[in-house]
Amino acid sequence: MYLELEHIRKEYDGKVAVEDLSLQVPRGAIYGIIGPNGAGKTTTIRMVMNITAPDSGRILINGQDRPREFTNLVGYLPEERGLYKKMTLEQIIIYMAELKGYSPAKTRLKIGPWLERMQLSGYRKRKVEELSKGMSQKLQFITTIMHEPELLILDELFSGLDPLNTELMKNVLLDLKRSGTTVLFSTHVMEQAEKLCDNLCMISRGQKVIDGRLSEVKGRFGKNAVQVEIEGDGSFVASLPGVAGVTDFNRYLELRLANGANPDSILRALVEKVSVRRFAVVEPSLYDIFIELAQVDPSEVRGQEASHV
Ligand code: ATP
Repeated sequence: MYLELEHIRKEYDGKVAVEDLSLQVPRGAIYGIIGPNGAGKTTTIRMVMNITAPDSGRILINGQDRPREFTNLVGYLPEERGLYKKMTLEQIIIYMAELKGYSPAKTRLKIGPWLERMQLSGYRKRKVEELSKGMSQKLQFITTIMHEPELLILDELFSGLDPLNTELMKNVLLDLKRSGTTVLFSTHVMEQAEKLCDNLCMISRGQKVIDGRLSEVKGRFGKNAVQVEIEGDGSFVASLPGVAGVTDFNRYLELRLANGANPDSILRALVEKVSVRRFAVVEPSLYDIFIELAQVDPSEVRGQEASHV
């Protein structure tokens, strides 16, 4: 299934949440909608799901208006999660799949393997209320994919998951992609998108900043960043000639280079003052690209680049 948004706009009480947004989610791709809190990600997803209607613009599925069977072909994980707490995991999985027209007999066959994959095997007959937040998240994910949707729409899928579960979830998404599922997910953690998506759209204040294949987006920026690990005080680095900005990733610094700046001369300037443990010219991160293109103050998106969750 492929999805297109054409010039979508949404306003709430005179405040624009999404402005003239167009994007294409190719069939079989993992597509990330990326942007800081309040950028308009959830509003966009809600419009795709027909929970809220756009003020203008069109949403097309396989090149046509949303088909009547759309909801059964889609698996949607909303940002606000909630499952009936008194039901057992088995009951809720069967119930949610049945709402999507999937037979309980088929669900029963698949519950065991999915609970095992999500490391919830021992909980089949336990109640939802007995789960931790991360475990409920994984359960909700199972209810989202059980009916074998062609398109998965996942709003802030990774929030609340620890690094091991984040890794687990990424691998599951890659497997689903291999079996032909199209995945659209939103995140404010740019690093997550970087590791997972084939295509992406960055939005800021309701507007598109850039979109395309991850490799193209990065390619457009060339190799204009340098990572350095130094010993001692690095406060002077930001004022070196050729350095346009510095992000402190704790273990290392990432320097955005000014146009035409030469990494060699920056290395020379560094070794004059401190001992350099590592120096590497790298592709710019999505975070760097976002900061440059959206022209936002880094403090607005602080913590969204390097939270290793
Ligand atoms: P987050 O990462 O915080 O979830 P987001 O990118 O998903 O953010 P949205 O939830 O789409 O952002 O919000 C975009 C803008 O629209 C915000 O300014 C928000 O206040 C506004 N907004 C969203 N939903 C409503 C609503 N139902 N009524 C009024 N304003 C809304």
